[in-house]
Amino acid sequence: MEDKKKDKQHTGKSHKLSQELSKQGFLTTEEMNRSLAVEFGLPIYEEISPLKVPREQLKKIPYSFAKRHIVLPIKMEDNVVIVAISDPLHLEPLQELRHMLNAAIKAVYTPKDIILTAINDLYNREHGAASELIAHLKGEDERGEGEVEVYDLLDDSSHQAPIVKLLNLILTEAIQQGASDIHFEPYEEHLRVRYRIDGILQDRHSPAQEFQAQLLTRIKVMAKLDIAEHRLPQDGRIKLKMGRREIDFRVSTIPVAGGERIVLRILDKGNVILGLDKLGMLPPMLKEFIKLISLPEGIVLVTGPTGSGKTTTLYSAICHIYSNETNIMTIEDPVEYNLKGIAQIGVQPKIKLTFAAGLRHILRQDPDIIMIGEIRDGETAEISIQASLTGHLVLSTLHTNDAPSAITRLVDMGVEPYLLSSTIVGVLAQRLLRRICPNCKEPHHPSEEELTSLGIDKEKAKKMTFYHGVGCPSCFGTGYKGRHGVYELMPINNALRKQIVASPDAVELRKIALDSGMVSLLTHGAHLVADGITTVAEVLRVSRGVGE
Ligand SMILES: [Zn+2]
Repeated sequence: MEDKKKDKQHTGKSHKLSQELSKQGFLTTEEMNRSLAVEFGLPIYEEISPLKVPREQLKKIPYSFAKRHIVLPIKMEDNVVIVAISDPLHLEPLQELRHMLNAAIKAVYTPKDIILTAINDLYNREHGAASELIAHLKGEDERGEGEVEVYDLLDDSSHQAPIVKLLNLILTEAIQQGASDIHFEPYEEHLRVRYRIDGILQDRHSPAQEFQAQLLTRIKVMAKLDIAEHRLPQDGRIKLKMGRREIDFRVSTIPVAGGERIVLRILDKGNVILGLDKLGMLPPMLKEFIKLISLPEGIVLVTGPTGSGKTTTLYSAICHIYSNETNIMTIEDPVEYNLKGIAQIGVQPKIKLTFAAGLRHILRQDPDIIMIGEIRDGETAEISIQASLTGHLVLSTLHTNDAPSAITRLVDMGVEPYLLSSTIVGVLAQRLLRRICPNCKEPHHPSEEELTSLGIDKEKAKKMTFYHGVGCPSCFGTGYKGRHGVYELMPINNALRKQIVASPDAVELRKIALDSGMVSLLTHGAHLVADGITTVAEVLRVSRGVGE
């Protein structure tokens, strides 16, 4: 009530004052507002610290309201919401704001540009800015004319087309939600936009059909693709700056019935967390793995399906063994992250720079440690073995379900078993499983069947507490947020070497490895379930196809 009176007082007083000032006619709007603020005794804030902005309050204020009235809650002070305004003569929105927030508020003066920039940044960071814009685009179509102000989300100074802004918003939102891929899929009624988050595709937006062509064309323009070509698949790249972050997108288009499907892979250089201790291996496993990658020669393989975190593991290994006294070289497809002090080569099949060819060149560059993105063919496998036999440590990946199958796969590629037994020092199989969302985590009872599949018996289960996520806005209803690695490490010992030469059969190799104390993917997964990190269902999902 006290505030209300004051506001009225200000408005009354300001009338005379503004007339006075405008008569003088030499003040800019900003200067005039500033002097009004001084006159009214409003504190002046030249800056807005995004970290202090009370998120709970921000959520209650629609973007369009904040934008239309240029108001923003900037911090809390003794249960009073401090709200930045840029026009001391325009205090009516404060009444509305008081209702929205159901709290006492105090106005302070902040220059318009600073409030607008903060609004753009903050609402972008929150979910739903893109959804809101899509809703407005739809609305505009129905009503004919829309609110123009909604479109200038990213850049107030330029007059970007709504489609440009919509795409920018989608890209921003996907990055902020931690997506690895963005899918644009044409349907008859609408365009389906999905994000892959923590390895799972999730529906996000469905812009109306009429925006489909414009959106896809915009992506093609950004990726410097041929916009007229609709019949052939195309590949390109987009580089974007987001604040200080530089983000690369790998773009792939493919014609499908009803239009073109476009997938953007986000290569966010600022987002990769490297470090062996951050991978989530069990301590004895980590110790063993470090022992393997510290050997002067031999081959260490990391296996798993696409998106199981193999590259992160190899990069972390390289960072661990990197020193000024070693020459580490890599050949990758493509180079995903630039590692300091390491010579990284990207394969370029168009100019015949394949894994095998690149590897031959690398060997002439006197390397100590070589990382090969992937062993896909017999030729690359042979050269890797030669490199190991001539005193190099080779790190690489293979697409197999579990550790023992890596040996079988190499034999299938035509490598002699005796060469494998004398070069491979260890195989690590891995997956990334989703962590239970901490925000909606609750105790839960897995089915007996699930427990049996994970090797947990009924009696033992009675003493354990299991959890799952029930779904909340913060995890988009999935019950999961973030990921955790799950591993099985098979160091090659004498028993395994003998078996490889005798018969490189994955089932036999697995038996020997387990007898020698190998912790399987499932067992490591069971540890994570017992620790309340993930669910039984999630462990079973990621370990499909793993031998027991
Ligand atoms: Zn949740």
